[in-house]
Amino acid sequence: MNTNDLSFRNSFASLGEAFFCRVNPEPLPDPYLISLNPGAAGMLGLDRRDLDAELIDCFSGNRVPAGAKPLAMLYAGHQFGHFVPQLGDGRAILLGEVKDTTGSFWELQLKGAGLTPYSRRGDGRAVLRSTIREYLCSEAMHGLGIPTTRALCITGSDEEVYREQIETAAVLVRMAPSHVRFGSFEVFYYRDQHDALQQLADYMLVRHFPHLADHDRPYLALFLEVVHSTARLIAQWQLAGFAHGVMNTDNMSLLGLTLDYGPFGFLDSYDPDFICNHSDHEGRYAFSRQPAIGHWNLTCLAQAMLPLFSDDAEAAVAMAQDALYAYKPVLVQAYADGMRAKLGLQDKHPEDHALVTDLLQKMQADRVDYTRFFRALAHFRVEDAGKSCAAADEFVDRDAFHAWARTYAARLVQENSQDEERATAICRVNPKYILRNYLAQQAIEKAAQKDFSEIDRLRQLLSQPFDEQPEYEEYAALPPDWAEKLSVSCSS
Ligand code: AMP
Ligand code: MG
Repeated sequence: MNTNDLSFRNSFASLGEAFFCRVNPEPLPDPYLISLNPGAAGMLGLDRRDLDAELIDCFSGNRVPAGAKPLAMLYAGHQFGHFVPQLGDGRAILLGEVKDTTGSFWELQLKGAGLTPYSRRGDGRAVLRSTIREYLCSEAMHGLGIPTTRALCITGSDEEVYREQIETAAVLVRMAPSHVRFGSFEVFYYRDQHDALQQLADYMLVRHFPHLADHDRPYLALFLEVVHSTARLIAQWQLAGFAHGVMNTDNMSLLGLTLDYGPFGFLDSYDPDFICNHSDHEGRYAFSRQPAIGHWNLTCLAQAMLPLFSDDAEAAVAMAQDALYAYKPVLVQAYADGMRAKLGLQDKHPEDHALVTDLLQKMQADRVDYTRFFRALAHFRVEDAGKSCAAADEFVDRDAFHAWARTYAARLVQENSQDEERATAICRVNPKYILRNYLAQQAIEKAAQKDFSEIDRLRQLLSQPFDEQPEYEEYAALPPDWAEKLSVSCSS
């Protein structure tokens, strides 16, 4: 296998120069492979043995593979609530699409491949630290069943990059069916380029929403699908305890994928006010605000798509509002269903909301570890109510747990829940392993010493987060005290 077999094409390039800037990747001096993701590679028909010098050159930006048309995509975006009229890929370069073994196309982007006309004050590079975080988290999310961009590999170099300290450069090869963002639409709306807006919507409809082709109002139907997929995505984030950190509209995928991993974080102890991004001083993107921000971002997208909905401005606004109304019920339903599953409950019950709220309040008050608690619940037995058990052990305030557990146990009896079945069901939806910040940090510190083994170990572990994997028990432990002091910000 060589890169010719990957057979690149670039359909986004056919949109025309209004949508991007052509730019070649900047070579990375003496690149070497840091990690290859066998899952993503396998989809493309590649394996470790295929990663010869030629392919490493392609994946580090030192060679442009045949058929690729490298470009930086244009977009705008609302960043922390403020509109920025022009952003665009400042350090990501789209090579084009390749076909996977099932015939589906994936865009391949080199993240950190050098300056583009949209780099503004940035250097076009990504540091090894941030590529490791994105690589591991996108695969962890995939393992959790949460829609996300994928990561194919990381290549690195000894080239120095300046952030708060001196670090080294790396390139992440990222994959998605499309990297189009809410901001890809906003840029043309605010420039009054309604033809381009329509062209982009048509492009997305043909390639990614073909089932909407015969719809009376395909653009509105497209928007409504984005409303639904975003609502479902954010419900999944909340259920997994994932905080994105920078939910600007330029980081929101039109396909409802988790996109642009930066200062993200998973909850350790349950805290709705958790702010993972050190630079987010006002907590705009705090964990519990994500559902509301999702709606705010969709409103920005709706605004940008108004000219496509109808020539009658008032009618267009009414349509957008109608579509936006779908967001909350979809999200609330997905979250409620997901929470019921986390608790191992089968039937819907009017008291479920109170049961969940009461539990979360108690977990917050007692700073209970979110992931460990739900996993431990698999071992709960009805006769455990009031007694010591793994779930109770996650609480310091045992009485608080027992108070909740009595209601929970009654609920289990009511639906004749079987312990064995419930334990299996709980373990299928509550991961044992998540990418805690400190785990990523350990892989990063080893990688800085040129030991990349921890990256591969974590990637493998997190690709099966629901499996027991007893040999990795320590990775499911409570985070060590030093983890509290770790801080992540936008600088990457
Ligand atoms: P983000 O919030 O990380 O998704 O990035 C916001 C914008 O800044 C995007 O347009 C990025 O392409 C750009 N950007 C981030 N880091 C760099 C960098 N090191 N060099 C150039 N552009 C960057
Ligand atoms: Mg971004």
